[in-house]
Amino acid sequence: MEKLAILGGTPAIENPPRKELFGWPIITEEDEAAALEVIRSNNFSGTDITAQFEKEFAAWQGREYALAFCNGTASLSAAMFAIGLSMGDEIVCTTKTYWASISQAANFGASAVFCNIDEHLSMDPHDLERCITPKTKAIMVVHYCGYPCDMDRIIEIARRHKLIVIEDCSHAQGGMYKGKKLGTFGDIAAMSLMSKKSFAAGELGVLVTDNRVYYERALAFGHYERNNSLHILECEELKPYSHIALGGIKGRANQLCSAMARVQLKYYDERCAEIRRAMNCFWDLLEGVPGIRPIRVDESTGSNMAGWYSPQGLYLPEELHGLSVNRFCEAVRAELGGVKCSAGANFCLHTNAFFQTFDLFGVGKPTRIAFSERDVREDDKLLRPSVERYCFSVPWFKHYDREWIERFAAAFRKVIENHEQLLEGDTDKAQGGLWYGTAND
Ligand SMILES: *Cc1c(COP(=O)(O)O)cnc(C)c1O
Repeated sequence: MEKLAILGGTPAIENPPRKELFGWPIITEEDEAAALEVIRSNNFSGTDITAQFEKEFAAWQGREYALAFCNGTASLSAAMFAIGLSMGDEIVCTTKTYWASISQAANFGASAVFCNIDEHLSMDPHDLERCITPKTKAIMVVHYCGYPCDMDRIIEIARRHKLIVIEDCSHAQGGMYKGKKLGTFGDIAAMSLMSKKSFAAGELGVLVTDNRVYYERALAFGHYERNNSLHILECEELKPYSHIALGGIKGRANQLCSAMARVQLKYYDERCAEIRRAMNCFWDLLEGVPGIRPIRVDESTGSNMAGWYSPQGLYLPEELHGLSVNRFCEAVRAELGGVKCSAGANFCLHTNAFFQTFDLFGVGKPTRIAFSERDVREDDKLLRPSVERYCFSVPWFKHYDREWIERFAAAFRKVIENHEQLLEGDTDKAQGGLWYGTAND
């Protein structure tokens, strides 16, 4: 038996070349030159570079229109405004995602309704119809951690109920579902291009659609300088309100980020392809190991994991004598020479007090249901076992470096093969390890 590092053994990996293996985004002189040009010309606040980026992004995305915003949160807000989300409407979202997929619905007086997740941590289409009522206006689909949602089922349900579909592609820019690009299934898609995302360009967001009315409404929401007769061609009802942002927020992108995004876009697909090769290799090396399973798609179906943002595995404690996921991750971390491995990913939003009790408008009712008859106890129907499904993060390789990938896979294997050493004193049976703390602390 090999002694685990957490118990005083030698770590499987020491001093890994972290920047070379994991550094992201990849910045070259081309990015630097583009940024420097913006700084030297003091061109942060114009829209010329942003407009070029939008044109290139729309072409790459295969959509008629792309509209950049200062961040993903603003672009998703604009998408909600674009579709006319308003007081009393309901919008269904997966419960396991970052808050900015759906929290903005509160600003429109709309109610977020939470759908359960499946074993890929994505919206479970089997639970979707339970969430739909006559008040439902839209579905917010999130391709969580790069996994493409079951769009065949989701789109079929949306059509049948005449619902608008918004895709939040913040984790999956450029990913594919059965040969078609994510962000082209819904009526509108919006996403973060924040520096930690797979498409990383500082602080930036982008919205894409083929619908001119949605595009113009999104423009008017946060782009006051473009809310005028040059750009607003179809939406008669917006015309009296020119040169003001109808959402009360300024959504304009900083052109430092637009310039960087233009350079990143040129290399994005090839870099994602290399990430997929590396991540598939990592999981192939762990095939058949008990206790852990990859969350990934079979690429022969024409689907893929995009840039494999924040890669997760599923943890099955019953195959490891009930060892807690937190103890498992702690032991893995001790082997990895400082590379992260933690449990939980985002907490499930329905468990957060913001969605249960927070009263933004001061009307004596939780904002989430301020203008609806819905009972937040509905959330109790979310199936406990799948909501509490265990997941854990694995190294996010940016390069196909076979030797290092093998060493990392061996470190995971070492913990699993020797997991019995960890059982004594493992009292932590909680899901734990959630990003940004647990839901209610
Ligand atoms: C990051 C993120 C957002 C918000 O984007 P920002 O650029 O940080 O405002 C929205 N949805 C998801 C799923 C995200 O991960």
